[in-house]
Amino acid sequence: MNAEEFRKAGKEMVDYVADYLENIRERRVLPTVQPGYLRQLIPAQAPEEPDSWQQVLQDVERVIMPGVTHWNSPQFHAYFPTGNSYPAIVADMLSDAIGCIGFTWIASPACTELEVAMMDWLGQALRLPAAFLASAGHGGGGVIQGTASEASLVALLSARARATRRLKQKHPDWLESAVVGQLVAYCSDQAHSSAERAGLLAGVRMRQLQTDNNFSLRGAALRRAIEKDKSMGLVPFFLLATLGTTPSCAFDCLPELGAVCEAEGLWMHVDAAYAGSAFICPEFRPLLDGVGLADSFNFNPHKWMLVNFDCSAMWVKRANDLVDAFNVDPLYLKHDKQGLVPDYRHWQIPLGRRFRSLKLWFVLRMFGLSGLRAHIRRHVALAKLFGELVGADRRFEVVTPVTLGLVCFRLKAKNEVNEALLKQINDAGRIHMVPSKLRQTYILRFAVCASATEESDIELAWGEVRDQATRLVGPPDRL
Ligand code: PLP
Repeated sequence: MNAEEFRKAGKEMVDYVADYLENIRERRVLPTVQPGYLRQLIPAQAPEEPDSWQQVLQDVERVIMPGVTHWNSPQFHAYFPTGNSYPAIVADMLSDAIGCIGFTWIASPACTELEVAMMDWLGQALRLPAAFLASAGHGGGGVIQGTASEASLVALLSARARATRRLKQKHPDWLESAVVGQLVAYCSDQAHSSAERAGLLAGVRMRQLQTDNNFSLRGAALRRAIEKDKSMGLVPFFLLATLGTTPSCAFDCLPELGAVCEAEGLWMHVDAAYAGSAFICPEFRPLLDGVGLADSFNFNPHKWMLVNFDCSAMWVKRANDLVDAFNVDPLYLKHDKQGLVPDYRHWQIPLGRRFRSLKLWFVLRMFGLSGLRAHIRRHVALAKLFGELVGADRRFEVVTPVTLGLVCFRLKAKNEVNEALLKQINDAGRIHMVPSKLRQTYILRFAVCASATEESDIELAWGEVRDQATRLVGPPDRL
């Protein structure tokens, strides 16, 4: 494909993308294909002679679309949203064209400098304490990771390096493995599975602490766990607190947890993967109170802020904690401006990194903070509408408060009945949801996901839930 052919093919692809997103409601949200479906639709080997652009484009509908789960369909209510917008898509086109690998400043100065600036814009929009902003000049700053899971792992590994250094200073004769063997990290029993995984990858104990009746981790529970571990000769060093848990969008109590972490010298990392986008709205900002006590904070603009995957925003108060944990310095990566600007290779696990700040820049400018706030508020209002529809049917109960865009609900019946209801709904394929368990109670999670979701989509979804429930347990007066 030469430049002229690219101009034509690129425009065709833009049309295909616009048609896809505009008409996405017409597609079945969850595919019906069986495992292995795709192999039968393509040749066993790569073609020896080139295929034409038209052949390739046609195969998108024939081969790919039958196996796509349409995350940006207004009938998709599973997991949490994945961001999507035209400004972010065109920014990614530009990022792909530039194709730089911005691991150091000199490897592409714009890539580093736009990221530093965008992370400050975003941090200010969330009203993060100045200590997290690069422009404040206190040693803090932001970095774009690929995912919240990576951010948690980076925070945990940095905390582990800091704790190991401190312990080795006290006990110079201890072996590194013995030191790491003493360490204990904590998260709540509602934390995302990536917290447990980070513990496994870092080779440290990760204890899941019990939450209160609102599924929130409280300071007293953390203090008790620390005291118990210390009495056994262990060294507590890290807490992963969650704002907006995956099962039910619950919020750990940062002011209490932060006070305990400060008193005990623990690194507090805050994972607000989904909920973080809402903090640009003043009415939701109190949910972030206490973040000033954290050492690191992360949320995913690629979830709820109209930025396409991948863009996970992470801030730290002391960038040197990351640099010291991951610093290796081969000659071929050195440059003569080192130390004057961040070299982001020290802030992450891989070496290579995409020009992800472009999509943040395009989105922040083309929606403006007012447009992004309107998007969040619209989704919250739609979630509240769904919650009201559920709550008005006496067969159902809404099991946790609808704070943001997630509604957790169930039939007032046994777990097995709720499992059967969800299976029926997903098998019918008009909408898609996933379940969760709160303690031993099976619940259905309804997340408002697509940016194009309207009231009529919420009414359609509720109609589907209501009718499937009637098929399963009979009309409301029979329960
Ligand atoms: N943390 C929380 C609270 C989440 O809800 C999720 C995903 O939904 C994650 C972490 C993982 O996010 P990522 O896919 O960016 O690693």
